[in-house]
Amino acid sequence: MNKLTPVHELKGIGEKTEKLFLKLGICTVGDLLGYYPRGYDIYEEAVPVSELEEGKVQTVTGAIFGRVQVSGNRAMQVTTIHVKDITGTLKVVWFRMPFLRTTLAKGGVITLRGLVSRKKSGLVMEHPEMFYPSARYEEKLHTMQPVYPLTGGLSNNTVMKAVRQALDEMPLERELLPEGLRLRCHLAEYNYAVRGIHFPEDKEVYFQARNRLVFEEFAQFICSLRALREEKDRARNHFGIRPAPGVDAFIRALPYELTGAQKKVWEEILGDMQKDVSMSRLVQGDVGSGKTVIALLALLTAALNGFQGALMAPTEVLAKQHYESVTAMLARHGIPVRTELLTGSMTAKEKRDVYSRMEDGTAQIIIGTHALIQEKAVYRNLALVVTDEQHRFGVKQREKLAGKGEMPHVLVMSATPIPRTLAIILYGDLDISVIDELPANRLPIKNCVVDTSYRPTAYRFIEKQVAQGRQCYIICPMVEESEHLEVENVTDYAAMLQEELGGDICVACLHGKMKQEQKDGIMEQFGSGQIQVLVSTTVIEVGINVPNATVMMVENAERFGLAQLHQLRGRVGRGEHQSYCIFMTGSHDQETKERLDILNKSNDGFKIAAEDLKLRGPGDLFGIRQSGLMNFRLGDVFQDAKLLKMASEAVASPEAAGSEWLKKLEAHAGTASVIL
Ligand code: ADP
Ligand code: MG
Repeated sequence: MNKLTPVHELKGIGEKTEKLFLKLGICTVGDLLGYYPRGYDIYEEAVPVSELEEGKVQTVTGAIFGRVQVSGNRAMQVTTIHVKDITGTLKVVWFRMPFLRTTLAKGGVITLRGLVSRKKSGLVMEHPEMFYPSARYEEKLHTMQPVYPLTGGLSNNTVMKAVRQALDEMPLERELLPEGLRLRCHLAEYNYAVRGIHFPEDKEVYFQARNRLVFEEFAQFICSLRALREEKDRARNHFGIRPAPGVDAFIRALPYELTGAQKKVWEEILGDMQKDVSMSRLVQGDVGSGKTVIALLALLTAALNGFQGALMAPTEVLAKQHYESVTAMLARHGIPVRTELLTGSMTAKEKRDVYSRMEDGTAQIIIGTHALIQEKAVYRNLALVVTDEQHRFGVKQREKLAGKGEMPHVLVMSATPIPRTLAIILYGDLDISVIDELPANRLPIKNCVVDTSYRPTAYRFIEKQVAQGRQCYIICPMVEESEHLEVENVTDYAAMLQEELGGDICVACLHGKMKQEQKDGIMEQFGSGQIQVLVSTTVIEVGINVPNATVMMVENAERFGLAQLHQLRGRVGRGEHQSYCIFMTGSHDQETKERLDILNKSNDGFKIAAEDLKLRGPGDLFGIRQSGLMNFRLGDVFQDAKLLKMASEAVASPEAAGSEWLKKLEAHAGTASVIL
């Protein structure tokens, strides 16, 4: 057996299971070993009944108290017992397992591990794993069981067994990293790391394994950026773009004066666009710093020089919004530049028409989604490519759009504030401009971090804001296990809220599983004020601009990274009215409070990112994982900032130049599975 052995050669994987693995992108044993757990089940010490908390998976040990009851109908029989220790009594239920009655009737001490939830009657543990007699739990105590991302029909156990067999039967791999480097950076050996990421004996082993793999992942990513950079330094263009008087007139006619930071960044861009080496520039600016107008200035410059410019947004909603604001601005200033919208949900005929206008050059500014880089999209003379909120795109997609022209200038816009030291590494292939100033007329957002008992007050507050003509967002918690549950969650919440707020206020919901037209419809109605309260998943996070919205309420704020919360907050405070952000948390944890308090105290994305970085030690790994920034397979840009810096230094170090390991990493770099 080796890395290329197909998974069906493993024991217990037949045709059906193989298909399921394929669905997850796993064909070979190598793929399987690279399919890391999304988390671990840790069998923690049992806690007293009085310390159980709603929403947590916990373990209790106690005596079975009273009778075992089986109720409900044939389709849904519910088995109920009560478990008692010296601190209290807990109700425990199982569904569709009436046969437990006989076993449990013996009474005695039992250990149970499961999700604690709150029902009318108080705390209940539902469908727990049971250890009976209680001593059986001892064997499991402190062990970590991998939890894999799954697909319907595939069980965690099946994946676990397959991985275990692969690990047992595969010959050891040769270590790629030189020993000196490993010692210097405290990195575990490769084979140890792969085993440790799947089956860590304890947290210590897990951290060691993870660090090693994250380091390699980062190093590989940095190698691919270096390759891109080299390519770009060679990219010449023949556009000969000059500053266009029409653009200056446009700037003068804007209803506001550009901020100093906007002016500075615009000069940098204009400078780049006049060169014959194609521009590769990142514009980093906090939410609301006014990046759109800068993108428009660049697009307009290209158009007025007789070329095409394209703007790619990560979602249809955002593309449409850009299109509308751009056409409105151009119309207002009487600038005759033909602007087109191109999105996947347009009809075939509509798309064909736009494609033909792109090809014959009638279309001068083209705004859209991924449709811009489809094969059918042919440009006549594309000189500028702008991607908005680029962390949602892959490097590959960025490249693909750039490939549509003859070495077009590339401008990347990002609202994710990353400290400069990290930005230099993560955007190693780009020059960086920072808009580090917000328009002066902004009222700072008022923030509060509150617990769930404040919810009714928050609803009253929302009612008042709506009565004053404002609008509100409510973000529902993510449901990691299943998208289906997430949909249910958002829909239920919206229905509950509609009831709570009454018929005069229109509540709607938005989630990622909706059809594009539905989403567009909702966003349009929210934009035009027909919908006053929008209950949404984080799909709303990216770039949406509804200046009349003044309240952002985030449920389960503790589950989000600070950077992401800051992005969410950026949806309000965009207009002339005072805006508010309510971070609601179900956790009474001191650390959580402190973390959220950072948001409370600051509206500056860069500061927040830096604080977030400081706060996150390796100890947080089981909490919030994603900065929501770049989806590395394991690594997290913020949390693993140290590893990122180490990897960057290692790759750039003189002794690495020309070395065997660097060559190997570079060879793999093209296949780096990183989504930016
Ligand atoms: P982001 O950087 O988050 O993409 P936008 O470009 O959407 O921000 O800008 C947010 C709002 O600020 C828009 O309504 C825009 O018209 C406005 N705006 C942009 N620049 C300025 C400025 N210099 N002064 C005042 N308002 C501005
Ligand atoms: Mg934007």
